[in-house]
Amino acid sequence: SSFEDFGFSPALLDGIYAAGFVSPSKIQAAALPSIAAKGPGEPGQSLMAQAQNGSGKTAAFVLAVLSVLQVEEEWPQAVVISPTRELSKQNMAVINRLGDKLPVKTQLVCPGNAEDRCPKNPKAHVLVGTPGKLSDLCKKHIINCWGVKTLVLDEADVMLGEENQMGPQIHIIKQHLPDELQVLFFSATFPDDVRKFGAGLIPSSQGIKV
Ligand code: AMP
Repeated sequence: SSFEDFGFSPALLDGIYAAGFVSPSKIQAAALPSIAAKGPGEPGQSLMAQAQNGSGKTAAFVLAVLSVLQVEEEWPQAVVISPTRELSKQNMAVINRLGDKLPVKTQLVCPGNAEDRCPKNPKAHVLVGTPGKLSDLCKKHIINCWGVKTLVLDEADVMLGEENQMGPQIHIIKQHLPDELQVLFFSATFPDDVRKFGAGLIPSSQGIKV
């Protein structure tokens, strides 16, 4: 298949080709027909995906996120959660690179240094961060989430595992998002608890699996 098959805007296609991508990877070709936006502000379907590093999973969810944005509106329209600051910074870099021509604005929401402190009501299209900091700023009403269309969980098994136990924080974030929400759930492994957690976020009638 081709990146032209998913209804992407010319500016998004420009960003994809400028990044040196020629054709979709297997997981991108499998997921994007369902998860790409039907139009700006109109998300595609939710997804549970088993995906390893190296499969191109990051670009799969990033392209779904970029395709749903109404870039003329400067409020958060997507939230991308991952277990660590490092991973969040990597995800943010991919969003900025592929969305360079839109252009997209991102806000990092992680514990860390003052220079990337999240302002109140950030004027960004995409919030990228860790469950602890994101849930904290939701509770304090620092970030405005009423316009969010798409929630991404990256490395869900790591976030939910014994070491991190971030499930409660993820639920708090979910509670602050609109009920009508596209959820893109990515995990390398699917033990029972991870599968159940994902299924709890995605009503089966509204999701696909790849
Ligand atoms: P990931 O599985 O998300 O960690 O991505 C693995 C690598 O594949 C990254 O370096 C991406 O830049 C690259 N990549 C992802 N999708 C494509 C694509 N369609 N064409 C070429 N490279 C890609």
